[in-house]
Formats: sequence, structure tokens, C-alpha cells
Amino acid sequence: MPIDPTLAYDDHNVFAKILRSEIPCRKVYEDQWAFAFHDINPQAPVHILVVPKGRYIGWDDFSTQASEAEIAGFVRAVGTVARDAGLAEPGYRLLVNMGQHGHQEVPHLHVHIFGGRQFTYMIPRE
Ligand code: AMP
Repeated sequence: MPIDPTLAYDDHNVFAKILRSEIPCRKVYEDQWAFAFHDINPQAPVHILVVPKGRYIGWDDFSTQASEAEIAGFVRAVGTVARDAGLAEPGYRLLVNMGQHGHQEVPHLHVHIFGGRQFTYMIPRE
């Protein structure tokens, strides 16, 4: 079920638990601003999730409330993770699902990095 973006940040969401090392993940990268791990249900040969370390539900509160340093650090981390995964030259796709229409399921901002194959349409055709 997609999240309700009007609710407050939930410290018990699954990515908050991963950030606190309360549940396992296949870690890819970590720095001051971001943490990255393999998606548990990959939709492409490479499917990595990058999350900010701050308590942000989605793109809306992150883009309005995060500091310049948090935003810059997070964006740079996404690029670093993709480059380190060998995806910069062949290319890759980034995806952020936001709120109900975006069908966001986990209420902690995450950027999906998809790679390792050729993609076609941006979104599935209805
Ligand atoms: P979204 O629909 O954008 O909120 O995507 C949530 C993503 O989180 C999905 O691709 C799930 O497969 C992934 N996911 C859920 N739980 C875990 C977990 N414990 N470890 C890694 N990925 C997860």
C-alpha cells in the first residue's frame, strides 16, 4: 500500500531500522549523509536503494526541509554509488516514488538506482 505523506515520520519504518542496524541489509555504501543497500526484491540486474541519514519521509519534506549540505551530500552519494557500481558509462535509471500517486511504500526517502540492462519506456504503459 502506498504511504500517506501527511503522517509524521515513523521511526519504525524498515529503512529507519536498517539505518540503526536493527535489521540486516546488503550494504553497498555509507558516508555522513547517505546509506545504500541492495533492494530485497530487485527489479533489474542492479537495483540499489540510497537513503539519506536524516529523518525524511519523501522527496517533498527532503527538498523543503533538508539543509544545503544534506541535499548536496545525498545527491553526490547517489552519483558515487552508481559510478562505483560501474553504471556511469553504460548508463542507469534513477527513480523516486513520492506519496500516494507515486506509489511510495516505505516512508523514508529513497532513490532507486536501476542498471545492468537496457531500459525502454519511462513508466509502464497502462
Ligand atoms: P517504494 O515503492 O519506492 O517505496 O520502494 C520500496 C522498495 O523497498 C521496494 O523496491 C522493496 O523491494 C524495497 N524493500 C522493502 N524492504 C526492504 C528491505 N528490508 N531491504 C531492502 N529493500 C527493501
